[in-house]
Amino acid sequence: MIVAVDGPTAAGKGTISRALAAHYRLPHLDTGLLYRAVGRQVILSGGNPDDAGDALAASAFPDSLLTDPELRSEAAGGLASRVSVHPAVRQALYDRQRAFALQPGGAVLDGRDIGTVIAPDAQVKLYVTASVTARALRRWQEMQARGENRSLAEIEADLAARDARDRSRAEAPLRAASDAAVLDTSDLGRDQAIAAAIALVECRLAAP
Ligand code: C5P
Repeated sequence: MIVAVDGPTAAGKGTISRALAAHYRLPHLDTGLLYRAVGRQVILSGGNPDDAGDALAASAFPDSLLTDPELRSEAAGGLASRVSVHPAVRQALYDRQRAFALQPGGAVLDGRDIGTVIAPDAQVKLYVTASVTARALRRWQEMQARGENRSLAEIEADLAARDARDRSRAEAPLRAASDAAVLDTSDLGRDQAIAAAIALVECRLAAP
């Protein structure tokens, strides 16, 4: 069973994907981390994330980079969004994601183009979304807990800019697959969102 989970930043995809993977005992791939690693590698190499050649060269990042805590930062998310517009970077990361999806027994993958490009054949597709205000508030709370001080307005502006870039790029823009079940988590707590996601998966699996 392949479970594809897509959606904008901070909508709850990661939490939901990890919970689905645990519930169905499937391996999970956070594909955003791959793009974050490319963005980070460009900076470590002294390159320019907006340059297609520099970004492609950085796609050959060492696997050890995937455990770098810096990848979780807002800055790394912004860099990921910039390198991810380059078609060559998306192509370079395609095989790794496709192989993960096709492993025996199945997998859960989350990202922006899983249901549309990486695994259009997925049995279950979820599009997890939430209002920009709800997403910014969650991100702000996470940052406060880590002792990072940024204003809510600033975070909301960053999220809106990242959404706009992810939705408007020519290659694999963020959008719900036509056969995806949409889950809006704006008014849901963590456990409610996970329960709703499991219910949607069960509903898909029960469908003929
Ligand atoms: O999900 P996450 O916030 O870690 O993703 C960071 C950025 O990587 C996204 O804003 C998006 O631009 C890019 N991305 C992508 N395709 C994916 C996963 C992430 O373009 N499958």
